[in-house]
Amino acid sequence: MFGFWRLFRAWQGIGIDLGTATVLIYVKGKNIMLREPSVIAVGRDGKEVRAVGEEAYRMLGRTPANIVAARPMRDGVIADYDLTEKMLKAFVRKVNAGFNPHIMVCVPSGVTEVEKRAVLQATREVGARKAYLIEEPLAAAIGAGIDVTEPTGSMIVDIGGGTADIAVISLGGIVVAESIRIAGNAFDEAIIRHIRQKENHLIGERTAEEIKINIGAAMIDKPGDVLEYEVRGRDLINGLPKTITVNTNDVVAALAEPLEKIGEGVKRVLEKAPPELVSDVIDRGIIMTGSGSLLRNFDLLLRDLTGIPVVVAENPSDCVAVGTGKALDMLRTLRDALTTDNGLRR
Ligand code: ADP
Ligand code: MG
Repeated sequence: MFGFWRLFRAWQGIGIDLGTATVLIYVKGKNIMLREPSVIAVGRDGKEVRAVGEEAYRMLGRTPANIVAARPMRDGVIADYDLTEKMLKAFVRKVNAGFNPHIMVCVPSGVTEVEKRAVLQATREVGARKAYLIEEPLAAAIGAGIDVTEPTGSMIVDIGGGTADIAVISLGGIVVAESIRIAGNAFDEAIIRHIRQKENHLIGERTAEEIKINIGAAMIDKPGDVLEYEVRGRDLINGLPKTITVNTNDVVAALAEPLEKIGEGVKRVLEKAPPELVSDVIDRGIIMTGSGSLLRNFDLLLRDLTGIPVVVAENPSDCVAVGTGKALDMLRTLRDALTTDNGLRR
């Protein structure tokens, strides 16, 4: 009997984190069933889908003339709506969530109202019985295990690929929020710039990301934090391939400016928040989510910049997806924070 209900519930709903870097799909009653790069490859005409996710990601920068591999969502906005829709459909089909599920989607916070409507429409077209959109910081908080319905302030700092989203939430809603277009991608670009200036050495975006993930840090806390990494690239003086060694100090120097800007954003949001809520945030600590918060010592740096304790959520990469899925059980309490397409309701 319980098995039946579990199956029944699993068929009922899925939560989608439509991120700029990664798309995650949480199937209720199961768990995260899909985690793939937000990339799609199509034929030159832009119609025929050649690959999505992991497979399309491997094609980035390596396509022949008749195929285009692209990130349809960049910098926290939908750069190409048509491709975003195609990608979303392909991913939802992949998880096989059953017949007409309820689908809750979380889109990057920079997305406009018109784009939100468009995503809802696309979600309906994949076969959703009902489609809902949830605000990203709220989904992140729910996924981080916070009871968002309480009259207590919580601060969420989500570091994604395109944007850093900072919000203070209370009573199931967003009280103050800011989205800045400085996050993981900007870190990679800063690493590229730094290595070009310091070493006259040109590296690609993927190499920069590898450096960040493997040896990167927001600050040096103890001597053991400094690691080294060998990277290939091109010598800008003679144009030839060359291998150089970079270390964590290089990354810390490169990221100082973008990280400072994120710190300033956090301070601005705190200044705009009502004092009672700020006092709650000081008690509970700032909560970091998003894969960008996996950068080593990011929490320590943010604590130093703000003077407030900071905790990185457990499994920060999954928070938004898990929260989006869980929000399907909170439709009443979250109703003000959700967007539905009433016109499309059955
Ligand atoms: P989005 O919500 O925009 O899809 P994610 O939450 O998936 O973004 O975060 C993507 C960013 O996190 C990318 O810039 C990626 O390079 C970065 N990232 C992933 N893992 C790590 C890590 N271990 N350390 C630092 N940055 C990371
Ligand atoms: Mg995200």
